[in-house]
Amino acid sequence: MKSLSLSTIARQRHFRPLRRPIFPLPSPPNRPFTTSNSTPQSSNPASDTPPPPQPQRQPPKNANKTLHHAIATETGLYTTLPYSPGSPFFLPHGTRIFNRLIEFLRAQYTLHGYQEVVTPMIYNDALWEKSGHLENFRDDMFKVSSAKRKVQKGSEDGEGLNAGVRSEEEGKYSLKPMNCPGHCLLYKTRGHSYADLPLRFAEFAPLHRDEIRSALTGLTRVRRFHQDDAHIFCRGDQIFTEISSTLSMLETVYHALGFPDYKFVLSTRPENYMGSLEDWEKAEEVLKRSLDNTSRVWGIDEGDGAFYGPKIDVLLQDWQGRQHQTATIQLDFQLPQKFELSYDVAPDGTTGGVSKETPVIIHRAIFGSLERFMALLIEKYENRWPFWLSPRQVKIIPVTNKPEIITFAKRTRDILSGVKTGERIQAMGKRTFFVDLEERNLGLNKSIREAKSAGYNVIVVIGEDEVRSGKVRWDVWEREYVKKGMDGAEEVYQKLVQMEAEYQ
Ligand SMILES: [Zn+2]
Repeated sequence: MKSLSLSTIARQRHFRPLRRPIFPLPSPPNRPFTTSNSTPQSSNPASDTPPPPQPQRQPPKNANKTLHHAIATETGLYTTLPYSPGSPFFLPHGTRIFNRLIEFLRAQYTLHGYQEVVTPMIYNDALWEKSGHLENFRDDMFKVSSAKRKVQKGSEDGEGLNAGVRSEEEGKYSLKPMNCPGHCLLYKTRGHSYADLPLRFAEFAPLHRDEIRSALTGLTRVRRFHQDDAHIFCRGDQIFTEISSTLSMLETVYHALGFPDYKFVLSTRPENYMGSLEDWEKAEEVLKRSLDNTSRVWGIDEGDGAFYGPKIDVLLQDWQGRQHQTATIQLDFQLPQKFELSYDVAPDGTTGGVSKETPVIIHRAIFGSLERFMALLIEKYENRWPFWLSPRQVKIIPVTNKPEIITFAKRTRDILSGVKTGERIQAMGKRTFFVDLEERNLGLNKSIREAKSAGYNVIVVIGEDEVRSGKVRWDVWEREYVKKGMDGAEEVYQKLVQMEAEYQ
């Protein structure tokens, strides 16, 4: 049988539009950002093509809270179980997206001079006392106790960096709700000179916060979440540059992910602030100047800053017009003082300087909670993910199950996935893709329909012509499946690499 391109088959079979909305949505997957008071955009503005068919299904009663959860359930991304309320279990396809987001940020970190670190999950409460979290955040922290504790009440083990730490005291540990104190300890493990700064520590560790059970919602309100967290230790004269550079990185990341429209909000000094009024005013002034330097309109939320400093939050709007806080950039003059952080100052920038100064900390997260950001992405893309982020990238469909066709299809799968079956070791750094081979012999048309419905970005059909020529036909989703021609598998692999590199 002569194989046909997918677009030809689609025309012959009068395929329905390929995207199958799971629930009625007011606008298409790449729906534009609208302001909170505006009405949803029409899904078919001034087009001479017929409007897409209206989906039959109705949203669940609680759609405003659970749309992303419904989509994720239907497309197999994550689940939640009563054994650990508020802690999502990511399924393999959801984990692919999760890991891709982290891989994407790690690539940006190399560009922006971040160093990734790994720090503990649980800490002695002496640390939280020092950082002020026990005083200000106690009700949101999970306590941890040990069955093998050695109670030595009253005796302090440490001095210097470890001052206040008691040995294995009962019930005196907590799961970390933030990474900052751990990063301060890391900073303190060695001396720093004027020239060492800025020092940028990044960490993707999970964090735990004890949200009340009734408030838990899908991926947006959870107890366990991952932040793309980082702390920049810098000198006073570096604050403006660091904040501006962070805002610029944020702009790049949000554009790549299809969220070019977002709002900045500056939150200022709250009633329970720590530190001096002068430090607060200085910090707020720098943040305002950095925001003025962007081309975006920004708002102000008086009195909503963190207890340790003012912050810039990013608000993203979902398809229903609700605002979600994602990124955050917080300036902190307090924590470095609490941890007695310092750097040596010398006129020529060398160590062993004449005096010590206290650095400033910038807490910053670009996605904020990865889980919450994924919820927004899931609602935005449904099962039509961009190729580089997609959990289902390529589907290979053999026209028949003749042995020579199946053998060629398997070889093609190995080449396109970048993983050769049976090899002893996989080369590090080689780009790999998620490629599935249709092995059920469902018939060509049904296989293609299923692959399209599942949201595969690339569909490759292999018949006798392909086996004879040694080339494969491949179609790519670009708002519809577009025929890309007939190429050798190695050439197609290189095209996939290019698509990924260009964040298509
Ligand atoms: Zn922090």
